[in-house]
Formats: sequence, C-alpha cells, structure tokens
Amino acid sequence: MATTEQHALHIQNGASHGAADIPVENPATGQIVASVPDLDAAAVAELARKGREVQPRWEAFGFEARTQVLRRAQKWLMDNNQRVIDTIMSETGKTYEDAVFAEIGYAANAFGFWADNAPKYLADEKVRSSQLLVKGKKLIVRYRPLGLIGVIGPWNYPLTNSFGDCIPALAAGNSVILKPSEVTPLTSLLMAEGLRESGLPEGVFQVATGRGETGAALIEQVDMIMFTGSTRTGRKVAEAAARRLIPCSLELGGKDPMVVLADADVERAANTAVYYSMQNAGQTCISIERVYVEAPIYDDFVGKVTEKMKALRVGAPHGPGSVEVGAITFPPQLETIEAHVKDAVDKGARTLVGGHVKRDGGGRFYEPTLLVDVDHTMKIMTEETFGPTLPVMKVADAEEALRLANDSPYGLGASVFTRNTARGEDFARRMQSGAANVNDAMVNYTALELPMGGSKESGIGQRHGAGGIRKFCEPQSIVITPRLALKREVHTFPYKPRTTKLLSRFFKFMYGRGKGIDEPKS
Ligand code: NDP
Repeated sequence: MATTEQHALHIQNGASHGAADIPVENPATGQIVASVPDLDAAAVAELARKGREVQPRWEAFGFEARTQVLRRAQKWLMDNNQRVIDTIMSETGKTYEDAVFAEIGYAANAFGFWADNAPKYLADEKVRSSQLLVKGKKLIVRYRPLGLIGVIGPWNYPLTNSFGDCIPALAAGNSVILKPSEVTPLTSLLMAEGLRESGLPEGVFQVATGRGETGAALIEQVDMIMFTGSTRTGRKVAEAAARRLIPCSLELGGKDPMVVLADADVERAANTAVYYSMQNAGQTCISIERVYVEAPIYDDFVGKVTEKMKALRVGAPHGPGSVEVGAITFPPQLETIEAHVKDAVDKGARTLVGGHVKRDGGGRFYEPTLLVDVDHTMKIMTEETFGPTLPVMKVADAEEALRLANDSPYGLGASVFTRNTARGEDFARRMQSGAANVNDAMVNYTALELPMGGSKESGIGQRHGAGGIRKFCEPQSIVITPRLALKREVHTFPYKPRTTKLLSRFFKFMYGRGKGIDEPKS
C-alpha cells in the first residue's frame, strides 16, 4: 500500500498531522509513515471519564453478546488481514512472517479463545465449606469486572503484547484504555477501528497515544493496570499502582537460557536455537538469549548453528519469504545490542557470525550474531540484549548448566534439550522460570490455556489461563442464608455459660484429636 494512502487511513483512525505530535517511523526504511497525538493527563482523564460512563452498559451486555463482538472481531481481523500486516510491518520493520505467525496468528486465536473461555473461567462458583457456621447456606464466588482497565504495551509486538491483553479485559466486561508504545501506536488505532466495526459500543475500547508520561497519567485513572515492558519501567508502574492501591500485572524482561544436554538431538536443538533467538530479530521477551552446551556435543552444535545462521537474510522485508531477520524497531535498542557485543568481545569472546550494525537504505538492522568463549562476566550473558544475538557457552555437565541457567535476576522462559524426556522434565522443574520447555522453546506462549508469567524480576502475575482473565475482575463472595433459617444463630448474643462450654468442647473434638498427624521425623 502506498505511504500516502496508508497515512490517510491512520489519520482516519486517530493519528494526526500536528507539529507537536509523535512521528512514527518505519525502522526498515527510515520513512515517516504517520504521526499520532501526544496525549496529556487532561486528555487521558477525559478518555477515562468516557470509558467509565459506558462500562456498565458493556457489562450488562452479558457474556453471550460480548462474545459475539469478539467473534466478529476475529472475522474482521481475517477480512482485514493484509491491512493489519502492512500496518504492523510499517511501524516495527519486522518480517512478513513475524507479522503473520506471531501477531495475526496469536490475535486471531485469542479472540476465539476468550470468546469460548471467558464464560467458563468467570462462571459463578458454588463452594462447599467445612465450616459449621455456614452449614445450610449457599456459598458463591462470582467474578465482577473491575471497571476501567489500563493496558500499557511495548513496541516489539503491537498486536500480540499490547492489544492481546485487551481481549480478556474486554471479555470480562471492562472498558479498556490502551497506551501503546510511542514507537508503534498504529496497530492499536487500527484495532480500535476493527472493534468499532465489530459492534463494540463507542468508548469501551480507547487508545491513548503518547509517551511515558501518558502511560503514567493512565495509571492515575484506572482500576487496574496491565503492563508489558522493561523491568526498570515495571518497577515505576508497580510503585504508582501501590500508591493508588490498585492491582497491577507486570510482564517484564527476560534472559531466557537454553540448555543442550549431551544426549540431545543436536540438529533439532540447533534449528530451535537459531529460530527462537533470531525470530522477530530477537526482540521477544521469551527469545533464547543464551545457550549452555555440554562439552561432548559443543563443537557439533556450534558448527550447525554457524552454518544455519550464515544462511539468514537480513534487511527490509518485501513480502512473504523475502528475509528472515527484520529491523531493530526501537532506536536505542541498537546501542544496547552493540554495547553488549562490544563488551563481550573486549572480554575475550569470539564472533563466529555477524557482529555489526547493518544500515540498509534508511533502515536499522543488526546482523545475526553468534558468539562463543563467553562467560557470566559479560553483559551478553547477564543483561537483556533484545536483539539477534546468540552467545553459546561450553559447560562440563548438566549441573553446571543448571547453575548458570538459574544465575540470573530474570526468570521468564527456559528450555532444555535431551532425548530422555523424563530427565528433561526433571531438569525443567529445577529451572527458575515462569515457563519451561523440553525440546522446544517459546511455544508455551501459544497455548492460551497455560499461564504465562515471569518469576524473579521478570514480573508479577500471569497472562493466559483462568488467571489471565480473573485478574481483570474482583472476586465477590456471596453467602445466602435460606428463608427458613433459625431465628438466632447459636453462637450469637446473649452469651450463656452452657452454650459456650458446649461449643468449646465441640472445637476440641473437631480440632484437638490430632487427626492425620504422624510423629515428627527425627
Ligand atoms: P519500557 O518499559 O520503557 O516501555 C514500555 C511501555 O511503558 C511503553 O508504552 C512506554 O511508553 C511506557 N512507559 C514508559 N515510562 C512509563 C511510566 N513512567 N509510566 C507508565 N508507562 C511508561 O520499554 P522500552 O520500550 O523503553 O524498552 C526498554 C527495554 O525493555 C528494552 O530494551 C527491552 O530490554 C525491554 N522490553 C521488554 C519487553 C517485554 O516483552 N517484556 C518488550 C519491550 C521491551 P513509551 O514507549 O512511549 O516511552
């Protein structure tokens, strides 16, 4: 699609022309494709007012009508597939395949998943209690939408990571304001159009374009904040949420390790390492960021990875199958990647493939880069690089690999390769990460039934699974005493010695018999 034509569509969806606006650049070409308004705190407050006004109506739609909107949006996404792909590519510079597989594929599935599962995950739960005081009463847990949800998203996946969390938040009956990254706001604006055309009432989903200050202003307005981005900014978000006593869910940085044990299928391990470190040019929170290989298969593994990495084409994408590695979306990220590679080389690492910035036309790229002779004194092994780099370290045995894999403040994803899957599962259970794969990587993210979240400094809370929608709700416990109840409960006023003695004896009988207790182990 021609740039001017694309620009006109962005304007129709809320982008603008103003001098104070934020320009949106195509990182693969250097062209400015649109500009968006930089909303201040007053503008965000106005969006919040609108969102709150319409939320009760949206909640009153009920599951059936809400899921209809999601199913129409799924169809809209497929009908407008090419427009969405073009928009994602134009603001991220990612390859056609990265836009199709990891963005369109995710969102299309997610619309259907939450339409099917929101009613199940949020259905009223009837509870049975062992507590005598509530015997004969009806006990219910219901999930009530929190009201107005703020979603702050990063630039690496404008559809999957930024917009993706809005789907369960909306399915639960909330209004949502999405603050996309200033670098990649256009996909969010386009999805606002898609939801409008799918029958979502005006104001239920709104996009607050702007910089970090706009995100900070959003936290001041909403009932819950869902944030994806760096650990540094995540801390600020958590502090702001704590001041307001609102819940927050944080999906933060990662430094995902991959371990290749001596009995692994080396060909599969090499293919997986290259794909999941280079896919999306390494700009994925659960990219493989470092590899530990047992000594006996190290040379074989490195040889195979070298060959595969040399074959990758990097540059501006021109439709399907044109390049494997696209642009670096966020300008400062290129400096981080360069600094990590330089730091490693200065400390003795060797670059077997790549190692340089690539300026192609007006675009911003980094060569697929394989590093060996690395160790944990180097940033490339300890800090989030978020680029197309793969440092590989030789280890003596599985225990050394595990110790090094866990030697990180992060704990998002992890993987282990071995032909002995029982041993692999045991190893995975010892990895300090929110998700772990045996003989694969990253695919856990695609199974929306599985909770996805980080341990350690990689985050708080989960997306996906039952918790991925219940977090946008507050549980309300309801206890219903039947109409034909006693006139007075036995433990209430007036107190009488005989009743108190009886109840005390009863407690002793219930809890004082040592039921189920063994002698302590010496
Ligand atoms: P940030 O964490 O800084 O930004 C994420 C989002 O938060 C953006 O929308 C940003 O707005 C917004 N934001 C910034 N400051 C505040 C604030 N004080 N209050 C509320 N919202 C705020 O990530 P970056 O985009 O700067 O990337 C930095 C690093 O984060 C990367 O180098 C990478 O290591 C990591 N990262 C991790 C991701 C993940 O999926 N876990 C995704 C992307 C990055 P704006 O962009 O307009 O400043």
